[in-house]
Amino acid sequence: MANPKIKSSAQTAKKSNATAGRKPAGKSLYSKADLEEIFRRFSIQRPEPKGELEHVNPFTLVVAVALSAQATDAGVNKATRALFAVADTPQKMLDLGEERIREYIKTIGLYRNKAKNVVALSEKLITDFGGEVPRTREELITLPGVGRKTANVVLSMAFGQATMAVDTHIFRIANRLLLAPGKTPDEVEQRLMKIIPDQYLYHAHHWLILHGRYVCKARKPECERCVIADLCRSPEKTWDIPAPLVELPPQIIGAEAAG
Ligand code: SF4
Repeated sequence: MANPKIKSSAQTAKKSNATAGRKPAGKSLYSKADLEEIFRRFSIQRPEPKGELEHVNPFTLVVAVALSAQATDAGVNKATRALFAVADTPQKMLDLGEERIREYIKTIGLYRNKAKNVVALSEKLITDFGGEVPRTREELITLPGVGRKTANVVLSMAFGQATMAVDTHIFRIANRLLLAPGKTPDEVEQRLMKIIPDQYLYHAHHWLILHGRYVCKARKPECERCVIADLCRSPEKTWDIPAPLVELPPQIIGAEAAG
């Protein structure tokens, strides 16, 4: 007997594709009510979502995010725990010096270049910003190794501003679900900022990352574990019934399966 779930998801996929064809490129396929409901469910699952990069102040957050490019949060945390114990300010980082920083972070990809950037950004923080991490995107992106995504993470996690740092998970989800399709992270960022209901905007960044990291994974989305399976309009979805909506226990960092 044919599996009714698979049949129904195939129909859904067909319907989604057809709908996608009718919509102008880049438009979200979701109504205001759908968006409210999607983020309401994420907010019940994770009322206080947190980023998973360990840090002790805005400076160490900037360093951790800069080190996290093309690396997992768990891998960065492992290296930075010891580094931040000895250097949690720009001056202490300079005193430590590039060679010793390299030793601390050598398990992280591109560590040579990243060590250089940590020294350069520490220097710039001291010379241009009195040793403090600046609070605007324009200033943050002048720091070596800090791009728009890093700046957005810092503005959100260190200074409580609602931003949307589009990482690999958010970029995938925005396009896979046809939530905010875009060819570049900047396009996706703009569209998400426009469609996400205001009251959910502050936490939306973490909800989408965690959803992408643990459920809507890159290689194979785990639709049977997804709380928005009924609302999702992705052609890739394989299941229509939403998973039970309950608050999740805190994530065990590093338990993320390869996406
Ligand atoms: S139903 Fe599947 S494809 Fe859609 S968001 Fe959930 S996990 Fe991703």
